[in-house]
Amino acid sequence: MKPIVFTNAEIFDGTGAALFPGEIRIENDTIVAVARGSDTVVRDGAEIFDCEGQTLMPGMVEAHAHLTWPSSVERVINTMKLPIEEHVLVTAQNARITLDHGFTSAYSAGALGEGIEPALRDMIDAGFLPGPRLRASSLEKGSEGVMGVPEGHDPTHDRSITGLRKYVSESKLRGCDTIKFLMSSDEGFAPGGAQILMYSEEEAQAIGEAAREAGIWLACHAQASEAIKRAVRAGFRAIYHCTYADEEALDMLEAVKDRVFVAPAPGLLYARCHEAQAFGIGPDEAARMGATSGLQLMAQVVPAMRQRGIRVLPGGDYGFPYNPVGRNARDLDLFVRLFGFSTSEALAAATARGGELMDMAVGQIRPDFLADLLVVAGDPIADVAILQDKSRLTAIMKNGRFHKNQIKQHVAHSRPGRALAA
Ligand SMILES: [Zn+2]
Repeated sequence: MKPIVFTNAEIFDGTGAALFPGEIRIENDTIVAVARGSDTVVRDGAEIFDCEGQTLMPGMVEAHAHLTWPSSVERVINTMKLPIEEHVLVTAQNARITLDHGFTSAYSAGALGEGIEPALRDMIDAGFLPGPRLRASSLEKGSEGVMGVPEGHDPTHDRSITGLRKYVSESKLRGCDTIKFLMSSDEGFAPGGAQILMYSEEEAQAIGEAAREAGIWLACHAQASEAIKRAVRAGFRAIYHCTYADEEALDMLEAVKDRVFVAPAPGLLYARCHEAQAFGIGPDEAARMGATSGLQLMAQVVPAMRQRGIRVLPGGDYGFPYNPVGRNARDLDLFVRLFGFSTSEALAAATARGGELMDMAVGQIRPDFLADLLVVAGDPIADVAILQDKSRLTAIMKNGRFHKNQIKQHVAHSRPGRALAA
């Protein structure tokens, strides 16, 4: 593979710093040089692509991905339960759609199937299927049938300590990177559900210990304050929602801010409040499902987390008919409009901070980072909402290879006498 140079770009490097004019050089899958202003990178042997002043930024990271939730912007599917053959294929389709919309990495917040995501991750990594880098999860595990927890969350739920430990070690053997537990139920499942705890302190501790022994990460759905606290004490790494966090829960999250990530997932609540009428969820139903009050609470809690330096990342539970996969970039705009993030903070959360969540060298334009990149027509710092329009993504690169490319290639730098060859 020839080296690639992107030139004449306005670069957002992922850190939150202002755009700067520059160019970068990529060799194989890696960014090897970044030049600022009138400095240049080595062009020897490279294919040169002229960004014509467009923005060059890291590919985005979806911090709360549900690729097995069936609905996408290309296809509404009014059920969560499909025959397994169809479900696997729909999931692969959703992976491609996620990448089409600028997300080159996805951290799973749980699946509807124990083995789908590890298999999908491996197919993507091997280059057989288009999709984001994936941190693969097992089931979104919870007490099916309790407090409205619907089918697909584990009909053979073994609440014994031995059963939980076994589930954790089996998930590791199955190839999962992370396991998702419902530490609390949810208002969306049943009114009052958010305050219902699904795992005791003893169970949470056993899950945490087994995960450390197996070498697997833990993620959880945690609404009630006590659910958040149990997750922190048990060593969970990704803690989702945190809508009802009290001061003590915030203190605890702040104390472990170097090892914990929060993704509140405003996208789903926003959709239930504002965009789900056609799907039978009007204002009354949105209120009954806790979406209206939940969004108001998040607008208090998330800015408090931001102030405390807790890493809060975009990722909004996309995959429902009214909140489909492919709409993921809307979360960045919600972070700005609802939570008081600056546009560059929201962008940094979706890129450099997302790379920390993935625990991979992604999310920054910087030497030795993987070449997961977007070229964007326009300035996302001026208006982060433009990222929701995939036609603005004129190039999408993952691992040094184009998934999409509408950028003009320079021929002027070919060796003299060969410029017109072929
Ligand atoms: Zn979720």
